[in-house]
Amino acid sequence: MIIARSVSELRSALDTCKGGIGFVPTMGALHIGHRTLIDAARKENECVVVSIFVNPTQFLPGEDLSKYPRKEEADFKICELSGVDILFYPDVSAMYGEDEVRICAPDIRGYILEGTSRPGHFDGVLTVVMKLLNMVRPSRVYFGKKDAQQLALITQMCQNFFMNIEIVPMETVRESDGLALSSRNAYLNPIERQEALKLSAALKCATKMLMQGNTKSTEIKGAMEAILEPLDVEYVAVVNRAFELIDEVVIGDTIVLVAARVGMTRLIDNVWM
Ligand code: AMP
Repeated sequence: MIIARSVSELRSALDTCKGGIGFVPTMGALHIGHRTLIDAARKENECVVVSIFVNPTQFLPGEDLSKYPRKEEADFKICELSGVDILFYPDVSAMYGEDEVRICAPDIRGYILEGTSRPGHFDGVLTVVMKLLNMVRPSRVYFGKKDAQQLALITQMCQNFFMNIEIVPMETVRESDGLALSSRNAYLNPIERQEALKLSAALKCATKMLMQGNTKSTEIKGAMEAILEPLDVEYVAVVNRAFELIDEVVIGDTIVLVAARVGMTRLIDNVWM
């Protein structure tokens, strides 16, 4: 595995790649969720590139940028054992200069849900993803459905900017009790870890209601809110795949999402229906 810390090191490493490149962008503190993306990239491409970069521009003032988990040694091992060819591990100065051009998230889809809770977050996400895609120039890029709005906006960016890259959405990987894997789960103490199960329990309830024939968004949201109640809930929402709020679930075109704080930790989860 080649470890590239600058764009020029990355470019030299990419010159050694023969065939299609599969790319997995991450912020590190790698877990099995990340591993499934890397494994899929390994199966489907000649060359696999992973980036680990905790992108400061997607964190709002007061968010957890400085304490975001960093696990360099373990991450390098995981990448090596997963058959990654190139690990791109830049510092901030390799990625950003002064007074730069930025990508803006769309006015509506970029400012609902996560965009309401974290205004400006998606500008940072889209900007860094644009930079990374231009540096790596992959044939396929892998993103988790867990960050559903991020996935939708990146897909839209690639369409709007006529970028010829296949985006591969990957299912959310969960602990056996239902908790969606997340680097931020490391912040949870044992009691909070139990409380956090309310997110996946609420989503299971939504699925059950749908299976029983209830397609009304308000009723689904009401039942979910009752389960989530003791938590500090930021939103519960029912959207279509284009990220428009909908009153009625349409099977095959719906995502039910939740964001809540468990103690100081902000968690998100969703189910695609
Ligand atoms: P992050 O390091 O949190 O920026 O995540 C990097 C990529 O891994 C993103 O595409 C995430 O959506 C994806 N990811 C994070 N958690 C999971 C999970 N539990 N299952 C599948 N993919 C995930």
